[in-house]
Amino acid sequence: MSEAGSESGERLVGLFLELASLPSPTGGERLVADYLKERLGRTGLMVVEGPPVGEGSQAAGNLYCHIPPSAEGTPILFSAHMDTVVSEPGAMPEPLVEGGIIKSGSRAVLGADDKAAIAAMVLAVERVLEEGRTHAGIELLFTVCEESGLRGAKASSMESIAAECGFCMDCTGKVGGIVVRSPSQKTIRARFSGRAAHAGVEPEKGRSAIRAAAAAIAAMELGRLDDDTTANIGTIKGGDAINVVPASCEIEGEARSHDPDRLEEVVGAMMGAINLAAAQEGVDVETVVVDEFSGFDFRSGGQPLELAARAVKRLGLEPSYISTGGGSDVNVLNLKGLKCVNLAIGMEKLHSPDEFIAVESLVQAHRLLMEIITEAAG
Ligand SMILES: [Zn+2]
Repeated sequence: MSEAGSESGERLVGLFLELASLPSPTGGERLVADYLKERLGRTGLMVVEGPPVGEGSQAAGNLYCHIPPSAEGTPILFSAHMDTVVSEPGAMPEPLVEGGIIKSGSRAVLGADDKAAIAAMVLAVERVLEEGRTHAGIELLFTVCEESGLRGAKASSMESIAAECGFCMDCTGKVGGIVVRSPSQKTIRARFSGRAAHAGVEPEKGRSAIRAAAAAIAAMELGRLDDDTTANIGTIKGGDAINVVPASCEIEGEARSHDPDRLEEVVGAMMGAINLAAAQEGVDVETVVVDEFSGFDFRSGGQPLELAARAVKRLGLEPSYISTGGGSDVNVLNLKGLKCVNLAIGMEKLHSPDEFIAVESLVQAHRLLMEIITEAAG
């Protein structure tokens, strides 16, 4: 009998379907948080909830749970996020299984990103306790607001964390993929303030904020700048009417690089273009640069990478090492001092109503967790 059809496989799919049927748009994770508190509470574990991060009655805080060790070894932490993106406001999730594939039966996203990881984690802990498996200490961190700027992870307190290393389970692609390298990212915002004037009667008296913003963007080097570095201006807003010289314009963008010095250089050049264009057009400009997250690089080794790679091999798979341009909670946890890698869990076509995960992949993701727990206690 294949593992997908086994008792634990059926239980895993049932658990995932329950989680996926609870809407948890980013900032409104209440239903999933309550479900997890109740479900893990049944095993006798205490689940601690942090202060709410989103706004409104459906907001929730990060959940934290500790399973004290029963053996020597490396204490570990698993992390996943409870929120999902919203593909169509108001659409209710209707997860279904068809031909070994779990997908959405409505316009709502399935939310395997990241509930597949949550299901794999919860079942792992339940089995460890039920089967009396030895382990070296397991902590679970379920974050909120990952999809809206990693706000949950950023707000998380690491004070009580005993783990020596961690595993975020939030990467698309086949089980066995391990994200070993991720860039740092900075966000840039600029608000140009010119002077309004009638465009047909006295344009000479105006100072166009849109023209300044356009000149700044045109002077920037954007897109893929080198193998390690990207830059983008993602939004532009400005102007009030076609017959008015626009007095205001705002732009937002970002830069990412695996090389922190190069990132500084690129952001410096983007800021230079903004300030120069403002000066040449005679408008004022206010700018903000925010450190969104910092990168990591485990290509030369490290505890979480080695544990994950050994666990992947125990599944009979070959680890594949991924260098990504994206950022997730894993960047924040590394920044906070916990060495973490991000693991692929088999989910596909994320952030769209076509998102899906194969039952086989979900089961593999769960088995990978079980193997990491075993390896950490070895
Ligand atoms: Zn995710």
